[in-house]
Amino acid sequence: MMVLGLYIHVPFCPQRCPYCAFATVVGQGDRHGPYTEAICREIESWAHLSGPVETVFLGGGTPSQIEPALIGQMLEAAQRHLGLHSDVEIAVEVNPKTVDREKFAMLKVLGCNRISIGVQAFRDADLQHLGRQHSAADVERAYAAARAVGFANVSLDLVANVPGGSEANWHFSIERAIALAPEHLSVYSLTIEEGTIFAQRRRRGLLEPVADDRQARTLEWTDAQLVAAGYEHYEVSNYARPGYRSRHNWGYWTGVPYLGVGLGAHSFIGGKRFWNTRDLNAYLDAMDQGRSPCSGEETIAPDAARRERLWLGLRTIEGIELTEEEIGRVQSSRRFADLAEVGYAALEGQRLHLTRAGFLLADALSLELDRIVEEGQ
Ligand code: SF4
Repeated sequence: MMVLGLYIHVPFCPQRCPYCAFATVVGQGDRHGPYTEAICREIESWAHLSGPVETVFLGGGTPSQIEPALIGQMLEAAQRHLGLHSDVEIAVEVNPKTVDREKFAMLKVLGCNRISIGVQAFRDADLQHLGRQHSAADVERAYAAARAVGFANVSLDLVANVPGGSEANWHFSIERAIALAPEHLSVYSLTIEEGTIFAQRRRRGLLEPVADDRQARTLEWTDAQLVAAGYEHYEVSNYARPGYRSRHNWGYWTGVPYLGVGLGAHSFIGGKRFWNTRDLNAYLDAMDQGRSPCSGEETIAPDAARRERLWLGLRTIEGIELTEEEIGRVQSSRRFADLAEVGYAALEGQRLHLTRAGFLLADALSLELDRIVEEGQ
């Protein structure tokens, strides 16, 4: 018996957003059914894990682009072959333009209990900068519909530091999000990923990323607003009301094994990380012919596992638990004393963690703390 998270990737999207690097396909409505069957077969191929699954996350892509009945088939397969815990969290990502009250009601009947709305911004100008097809009015309608059918755990995903966007518009987005009072908010600073249209535009000089100092100012302001409104800043990019942290993502950050099924999905089981093909035809063919859709794997060596545990754990406000030896190195480090004094990191009992101020510099600080924990200095 094994406790695990299950990630189900639904790659279908109404459009290809210019900043997105996920494994997605546009349209192809005729493949929703075959894809669902393939997902069910892939879940069945893992029946030997025998659950129970504590958290399910349907992400994408755009899970709300397919009929809820198909999501129902995927969840049924998970229940039958892996087992779902009686207290399972089932989260679904939705695009505001693809949901209405009826669809939400069906998702609720299927047992979904957490909705994550891809808001991105509450100003149409920012949504246009991001190349999104939905409007702020669509977001408002989607949120009201989710509440109307009784979803009591709703997360809003927002994108900060949009090239071309103004700080005033961002302030409006955060203020509007707070006014709606969701249980959870994810705030990601836009990164320009290779292989995206934004990356091409930047290369041609057509897109200017937001300057680093403005990015930092925006995230600092956002943190202050959300914390003042009663949200806990519990992970670098995530805020929650008490009791509403994302259980599924918490598993990723704290080393819980997870199985990812579907296009491009990643898994982490038994100290091994492996991932599926990002080619839809190859994925469907593999599942049709009873072959594994896996296209790569790596065994995490002990040193890499230690580093990963530190990097992921330091993303959370609870940080990581250190061994006695590691505590000794941290306590004797002058550099750590400096970081603690300026309020970026703290050692409390056996736990080393970043502070909210430290979250703003998480990558650089994790690098330094990794060195301190490993070598002391
Ligand atoms: S950002 Fe979301 S909606 Fe846009 S292409 Fe990526 S997964 Fe699809």
